[in-house]
Order: sequence, then structure tokens, then C-alpha cells
Amino acid sequence: MLESRARVLADLEARRMADPYAVSALEDAVASRRWWVEQWPEGAQYVAGLVAQDVQDVLLDTVGRWPLCQGCDEAPAHPLHISPELGGPDPVWVCEESGSVVARLGDLSRSADRGGPV
Ligand SMILES: [Zn+2]
Repeated sequence: MLESRARVLADLEARRMADPYAVSALEDAVASRRWWVEQWPEGAQYVAGLVAQDVQDVLLDTVGRWPLCQGCDEAPAHPLHISPELGGPDPVWVCEESGSVVARLGDLSRSADRGGPV
């Protein structure tokens, strides 16, 4: 769980979205997924991706889409999503438009599309 939390937090920070509101959304997601994985230990491989999706949902309803793709020049602003959809194993961020893998979950700050506008 700590690893899941750290990876999602790293990606929030990579896009300067780690404000108190987003961090509390993250804490809530981690808490509910912790309960979930206690009921179903085999689900552990999905937790990091699911926590990221939970945080995405909360932010979408409030501050907006996170994380936005910074790799496509042509397309209008569009988000990345977690692949596989189930949240794991080995969750990665995929561009919704191009379908290409942008970064592993937790590695957005090291991805090739670093440095664009936030
Ligand atoms: Zn894109």
C-alpha cells in the first residue's frame, strides 16, 4: 500500500497537482483500497493502478483532468489513463489519443513528455 501511495503521489507531484485536496483524495483512495485488498489479497497487484484511477475520478469532478498528455502536439488537451484498465499488473499511463505508453505509474516525472505546460 505504501508503494501504491508513493507512486501515485509521485505522479501528482510530477504535474504539480499534489495540493492538500489531491493528497487527501489519495489518502481516501489508499484507505478504501487497503480494506479491499485485505478482503482479497490476490488483488494486491491491481492496487496501485486502482488508487490512481480513484484519484483521477475525484479530481475529474473537482479540479479537472489529471494527468494530461504532454506528448501529442496536434491533439486538443486529453488525459492519460491507466492500462490495464483493471489497474494491474504493471500499470502504465497510456495516451488516450495515440494509445502509446507514456510512463510507468510513478514515473511520469521521468517520462519523455516532461517539461510541458501544466
Ligand atoms: Zn496524447
